Amino acid sequence: MTMTRRTLVWMVGLLTAAPLSAQVGPQGSSVVEVGLALRQLDGVKRVLMIGAHPDDEDSSLLAALARGMGVETAYLSLTRGDGGQNIIGPELGEGLGIIRTGELEAARALDGADQFFTRAFDYGFSKSADEAFAHWPKEQVLADIVAVIRTYRPQVIISVWAGTPRDGHGQHQASGILANEAFEAAADPGRFRDLPGLAAEPWGVSKLYHSARFRGPGSGADGLTVQTGIFDPLLGRSYYQLAMESRSQHRSQEMGAAQALGDRTTGLQLVQSRVGGINSDTGIFAGVDTTLAGLVERLPRDAAPAIGRSIESYRLAVQEAG
Ligand SMILES: [Zn+2]
Repeated sequence: MTMTRRTLVWMVGLLTAAPLSAQVGPQGSSVVEVGLALRQLDGVKRVLMIGAHPDDEDSSLLAALARGMGVETAYLSLTRGDGGQNIIGPELGEGLGIIRTGELEAARALDGADQFFTRAFDYGFSKSADEAFAHWPKEQVLADIVAVIRTYRPQVIISVWAGTPRDGHGQHQASGILANEAFEAAADPGRFRDLPGLAAEPWGVSKLYHSARFRGPGSGADGLTVQTGIFDPLLGRSYYQLAMESRSQHRSQEMGAAQALGDRTTGLQLVQSRVGGINSDTGIFAGVDTTLAGLVERLPRDAAPAIGRSIESYRLAVQEAG
């Protein structure tokens, strides 16, 4: 089947809408890299995780999503961890923020996720969200989060923090509050209309989850359980093991971790959904159309049939290659 030039340009645009380069690890052979990339090609699945600091992220979940489930995955750290301690050198403040930025990028190169930040500065410890918002201009940080959501276009957001005093650190509470508000604000055509380019266009995220990572058993959460201890034949280890190597990149925080074998799980609690009931959730993408054919339905009527045929041909090629 021959593709028209216009269709080909459209297909290339589709496949490069979000950066794929960071999804392929630098360590594997070409066979491994191609195998991991193939998992992402038959559909469009995107997840954005949001937390306050370098090390808040659930690395095992990032690895299971990005490497195992073929999900384009990103971590949005509101700060660069500028306010913490430095185990490996004299740098503090902005200098430490630069080091931790590099540590996050090294971690993402392993677990396969992309990395985003806002302009929020880590000023050190605080006890409440109010203290955090005394340092962080709330609308400005919210605008930065909305801009990432509208340009990355995830169907699912996972907020590490719930936005309550149980989160502890004031920046954690503020991070949860902002993630909850961003779910609404990103979809509201009346808000943040002055952001540049695609960031001005509303984007309705289908589902918002809270991570159970720091709340653990007995937190009242009876939501989804994701298996992260599964051995992946392409990686030669489990997602948890890969994630512990990713975790060990946080050297300024002395976070070296053993890559232990065995069952591991992580938990998620659905708190908002535009595609189904909160209490009937069966999976992260349950109720979300992640198929390429679903994209065609949103195209102009005269273009849809030809592009639909091209996508079907492309899907067959991906299946054969897999
Ligand atoms: Zn933190």
